[in-house]
Amino acid sequence: MDMEKIVSLCRRRGFLFQSSEIYGGLNGFWDYGPLGVELKRNVKEAWWQDMVARHDDISTLPGAPASYEMTGLDCSIIMHPQVWKVSGHYDLFSDRMVDCRADGCKSRFREDHLGTSECPLKPSKKPGEFKACDLTEAREFNLMFKTIIGAMGTKDDEAFLRPETAQGIFVNFKNVCDSTRVKVPFGIAQVGKSFRNEITPRNFTFRSREFEQMEIEFFCHPKTSKEWYQFWRNRRFQWYIDHGLAEGRLQLRDHDPDELSHYSTGTADIEYAFPFLAEGEFGELEGIAHRGDFDLRSHMEGKLDPKSCPLEVEKGEDGKPLYKGSGRDLTYRDDQTNERFTPHVIEPSAGADRATLAFLCEAYTEDEAPDDKGNMKTRTLMKFHPRLAPMKAAVLPLVKKDGMPEIARELYRALKQKFPVFYDEKGAIGRRYRRQDEIGTPYCITIDGDTLKDKTVTLRDRDSLEQIRVKLDDVVAEVESRVR
Ligand code: ATP
Repeated sequence: MDMEKIVSLCRRRGFLFQSSEIYGGLNGFWDYGPLGVELKRNVKEAWWQDMVARHDDISTLPGAPASYEMTGLDCSIIMHPQVWKVSGHYDLFSDRMVDCRADGCKSRFREDHLGTSECPLKPSKKPGEFKACDLTEAREFNLMFKTIIGAMGTKDDEAFLRPETAQGIFVNFKNVCDSTRVKVPFGIAQVGKSFRNEITPRNFTFRSREFEQMEIEFFCHPKTSKEWYQFWRNRRFQWYIDHGLAEGRLQLRDHDPDELSHYSTGTADIEYAFPFLAEGEFGELEGIAHRGDFDLRSHMEGKLDPKSCPLEVEKGEDGKPLYKGSGRDLTYRDDQTNERFTPHVIEPSAGADRATLAFLCEAYTEDEAPDDKGNMKTRTLMKFHPRLAPMKAAVLPLVKKDGMPEIARELYRALKQKFPVFYDEKGAIGRRYRRQDEIGTPYCITIDGDTLKDKTVTLRDRDSLEQIRVKLDDVVAEVESRVR
C-alpha cells in the first residue's frame, strides 16, 4: 500500500488538508475537510456510543469482572499549572533531542528515533552516517506548549495547553462522585484536544502537535484492578477489529517491565501496521495502562519525583522536586462495606486522529471493475465500515429528465433526515459511481426508467458491486438497516 496515494486522495477528495496551506502550511497541524470532519466525527461518536452512551450498566458485559457504570466529562484545555507539576508533566514530559550542526542540514531529531530517522541530505541515510554529520549531545525538551493567562505576562501567569485529557478527569473525580450516584467500579470518559510540541511531527497526522484524544479513566477496587485491566485491554482491541481494521495488521503488545512507568503494573499498546512504517513495524493507536492509585494519590498528597529533574522547580530538603497536592480527600467510601480506599485506575487512552488515520489506511483499496462500456478498469475505493463512512448513501438519477431528478431529490431529502447522503445528477453514471467509491459511500441508489414504471430503484453495493432492485417506498428503511 502506497502512503502517497492515500495522502493524495485525502487532499483531492477533501478528507485532510495541511493547516494554513495558503501560507505554506504549519508543520504538525492539520485541518479536516468536508469528508474528513464526517469521518472523524463518526470515529469519536462510535467510541462514545459504545463506551459511554449505550453502555449497559445493568448486566455484566462478557469478560467484565462485574457490572459497571460509565459517565463523561468535557474539561478545559488550560488547567491550573499545579496540575501539571503534580502529574509529573512539568518535569518529566520531555523528549531528548539532538541537533545536526552540519551546513545544509540543521535538522532536529528525537534521540530515541535516530535509528529510524532519515538525514535530509541526499542520498538519504540515517543521522550520523554522513561524514559531514555534526550531531550535538542530546538535550531534554519539554513537550508542553506554554501560554500566558491575562495581560501582565509574568512567570506567575504562565500556563500550559493540556498534553493529555486524563488530568481533567482525575481532578474532577470528587465532583463526579458527589454530583452523581456513580459507584466504584465506574469509568469517566472524555474526548478532546491535546497539544504536544513534538520535536519531529511526521507521518501525516500520526504525530501531530495538536490532536484529539479519547480517554477513559476507570476507577475500581485495588483487589479487582488486574481483572479490569485485562477486560479493557481485550475490549479495546476488539473495538478496532469490529470497525474494520484487519486483525493481521493489529497487535496488542504488552510493555516489557523496563518500559513501564514506575507506578504502572501493566501497560499494553494496541498497534497498527501503518503503511508508512517498515515491514514488521507497528505504530501505537492506543495505550491501556494500569496506573494504580498514582494519580489520585498525587493530587491528594503531592509528590516527590523519583527521577532527577531537568527543570527548575521547588525542591525538598533532600534536593528532589517537591510539589504540594490539593490536600483534598480523593478517597472513596464503599457505602455497603464502609471500606474507605483510594481507587485504582485503568486507563484506555486512544487517539482520535490516529484511529481515523488507521481507518483511512485500511479502507484504501484498488481493484478491477467494469466501466460504462464493460471494459475492466482499475478502481479506487475506500472500504470504510458503514458506521464510519462519511456519506452513507448517494442518490443518482440516471438522466436529468423524465421526472427522474424530482423522484431522486425527494428520496434524497427523506434519507437526509437520517444520515449524511450525497446527491449527484452530473455526468455518466459509471463516473458517478466511481466518485462515490473513492469517498467510501457504501450504497448508491439509482433512479432509472424502471423506477417510472414499477416504482423500484437500483441499490448498488460499493464492495461487491452487486445491484438489486428495491421498492422506492422501502429504500430508506433498507439503507438504514444496512448502515446501522
Ligand atoms: P508516542 O509514543 O507515539 O509518542 P505516547 O505513548 O506518548 O505516543 P500516550 O501519551 O499514551 O502516547 O497518548 C495516548 C494516545 O494519544 C496515543 O496512543 C495516540 O493515539 C495519541 N497521541 C499521542 N501523541 C500524539 C500525537 N503527537 N499525534 C497524534 N496522536 C497522538
